[in-house]
Amino acid sequence: MDVWMNEAREALLQRRSRLRRRADQDKPRVPQDAAGGLSKGDLQELCDIDAALERMKAGEFGRCARCGGPIGRHRLRAIPEARYCLTCSGLVAR
Ligand SMILES: [Zn+2]
Repeated sequence: MDVWMNEAREALLQRRSRLRRRADQDKPRVPQDAAGGLSKGDLQELCDIDAALERMKAGEFGRCARCGGPIGRHRLRAIPEARYCLTCSGLVAR
C-alpha cells in the first residue's frame, strides 16, 4: 500500500473512532440505535468514512465514482472520503 494511502487510511480511522466515541458519550435513548447522539451530518460522515475504507479494501480507493478517473492525491489528502474528482463533485449533489 502506498504511503499516502496509508496516511489517508489513518486519518479516516482516527475520525471514525472520534465520531464513535462521541456517539457513546451521548447515551442513546434507544439502545439498539447504534447511531447514538450523532447528528445527521456526523452520521453521513461516518457513512462516507466507512465507504472509503471499503473502497480501500476493494482496491478502488481514489477512483471517481462518477467518471472513473483518478480523484487526485491532493484532494484525497484534504478529503480522504471523497467519492468524486474535483470536476464531478461540482456536478453531483451529495
Ligand atoms: Zn470524476
